[in-house]
Amino acid sequence: MVQKAIEILKKSSSLLVITGAGISAESGIPTFRGKDGLWQNYRAEDLATPWAFQRDPETVWKWYDWRRGIISKAKPNKGHIAIKELEDLYERFFLITQNVDGLHGRTGIKNMIEIHGNLWRVRCTKEGRTFLLLDTPLKEIPPRCTCGAILRPDVVWFGESIPQDLMDKAYTLLNTYETLIVAGTSGVVYPVASFPTILKANGGKIVEINIEKTPISDLADISIIGKTGEILPEIVEGLKKII
Ligand code: NAD
Repeated sequence: MVQKAIEILKKSSSLLVITGAGISAESGIPTFRGKDGLWQNYRAEDLATPWAFQRDPETVWKWYDWRRGIISKAKPNKGHIAIKELEDLYERFFLITQNVDGLHGRTGIKNMIEIHGNLWRVRCTKEGRTFLLLDTPLKEIPPRCTCGAILRPDVVWFGESIPQDLMDKAYTLLNTYETLIVAGTSGVVYPVASFPTILKANGGKIVEINIEKTPISDLADISIIGKTGEILPEIVEGLKKII
């Protein structure tokens, strides 16, 4: 399977990668859907919404504070590093990550969209301005802007729209790139879950890497069952020998 993926990638002059929470699992960051994805008695999907924040910003911020604490101790793993190496191998390369942990950025990758935002960035609920808030743990919960309004994490919650400029960029990539690697995503969170179908409709090829089958598996040209931290470095090593 890995060899077949390398064959596809070798023939391609452009590479798009989409990642989800699974790529950061080997850095010790819990995914949303999985046995380690639980937090107290809440479901992530019930906390990551504008309604939950409106109702109870303190609980939502406690959850983000807990996640930020875990992420602050985490490091990019072999999967993140392999993706940075793929960027170095291709003239046309882009990464769309659904992750908000910032770990891809810490590998030095340049061509990337964090399509669901970044949880180290906050947004003033009154003024709309965004800035980094790196305190972990937070000094006050919920944290407040200098204007006095509550700050929120600058992430896209369930029920919210992805900023239009990022969607436009994603569609341009999906319409013009030849090959897509989809790594560590359950393929159920829209609109990103529909991205592979768009690329495929344009004649593109898809390689999926996940520890289990997903709704994307049947669409993929190659579906590799395995950990991103193991499979991606194998792919990079194989490609380096021939590119
Ligand atoms: P998800 O939690 O729905 O699914 C995770 C997927 O990763 C599953 O399909 C699982 O089988 C797979 N996986 C787990 N470990 C893996 C490994 N080592 N190698 C390969 N695959 C592995 O995550 P999602 O699809 O990204 O969608 C959920 C939303 O959750 C996204 O919007 C994302 O922003 C958010 N989220 C982000 C983080 C983060 O930033 N690290 C963590 C949790 C959730």
